[in-house]
Amino acid sequence: MSIRIGILGYGNLGRGVECAIEANPDMELAAVFTRRDPSAVRIATAGVPVVHVDDATAWEDKIDVMILCGGSATDLPVQGPQYAKLFNIVDSFDTHACIPEHYAEVDKAAKESGHIGIISVGWDPGLFSLARVYANAILPNGKDYTFWGRGVSQGHSDAIRRIKGVKDARQYTVPVPAAIEAVRAGKNPELTTRQKHTRECFVVLEDGADAAYVEKEIKTMPNYFADYDTTVTFISEEELQQNHKGLPHGGSVIRTGSTGHNQENQHVIEFKLDLDSNPEFTTSVLVAYARAAYRLAKEGQLGCKTVLDIAPAYLCAQSGEELRAHLL
Ligand code: NAP
Repeated sequence: MSIRIGILGYGNLGRGVECAIEANPDMELAAVFTRRDPSAVRIATAGVPVVHVDDATAWEDKIDVMILCGGSATDLPVQGPQYAKLFNIVDSFDTHACIPEHYAEVDKAAKESGHIGIISVGWDPGLFSLARVYANAILPNGKDYTFWGRGVSQGHSDAIRRIKGVKDARQYTVPVPAAIEAVRAGKNPELTTRQKHTRECFVVLEDGADAAYVEKEIKTMPNYFADYDTTVTFISEEELQQNHKGLPHGGSVIRTGSTGHNQENQHVIEFKLDLDSNPEFTTSVLVAYARAAYRLAKEGQLGCKTVLDIAPAYLCAQSGEELRAHLL
């Protein structure tokens, strides 16, 4: 019997999960849940019901794993504990500073109801977290670096859209090549925020908007842009649609470290991602962890887990024997 997946929230990640399930023959999409009027949400898969979240309780026995695809800012802190009471869940919660608190909330709900909840799955947090932990375990004498991009930051793009006079915007986070090269060369540089990344903004203005005002508002925005070298380019709506429609992203987690009695030998560990589509890649990770959630639940395990707690073999459709023969 295939693993019955539910999607809760149908945005970029919701659409990505739907697509990723097609690539995993051991899974099937059971239903999509939304807070909106279900008749207004058109999904790509024929014959799969779109259900209002208020009716989710009726699906308790028909879903093996519910993949939560809401936003990290306000949706997942509520939806994680709420749906861990009804289902085994997987989410992509990415507010790093709040992960311990989210873990505690999901753990309590999942233990009380007898479910598994795997949180903060994706690439960062997610695969990048694994890379950081492996590298730290292996090279205790070392230094960590994470570079993001070149890629679209949705949070920064949204922040620009909120400025008066802005019709639409795309923000790319770009690593500074000289900084990455110095790290890869094992020079262990001390890098400020400004020395690690630059920010490129492509902005469509409303008719009659004040370009100088918009540029100043962007470049001086605290937390988002003020600490970076930022460029602002004004473009037409057509150009934005033509050249900036996609959601590429990626980056590198690098740890440089030394071994030997006198720390005389240097080593560099790098884990790199170059993604055409951030949501399609993130959801490919989510469905692999949904398989793990299904298997852990079958074993009778309970409570909250992160990617750090789950052995890699649980992610793969292949058996342990097949993995040992071909991928070990
Ligand atoms: P999104 O497209 O904005 O969707 C978020 C929610 O908004 C959806 O679940 C949906 O809920 C609602 N929604 C979507 N389209 C809508 C529309 N047209 N009108 C009204 N409501 C709509 O967000 P996303 O790009 O999928 O990202 C979700 C989260 O994933 C982000 O907040 C980010 O933190 C996280 N993420 C994590 C990683 C990682 O590596 N860990 C990577 C990428 C993203 P309803 O269907 O219930 O309305």
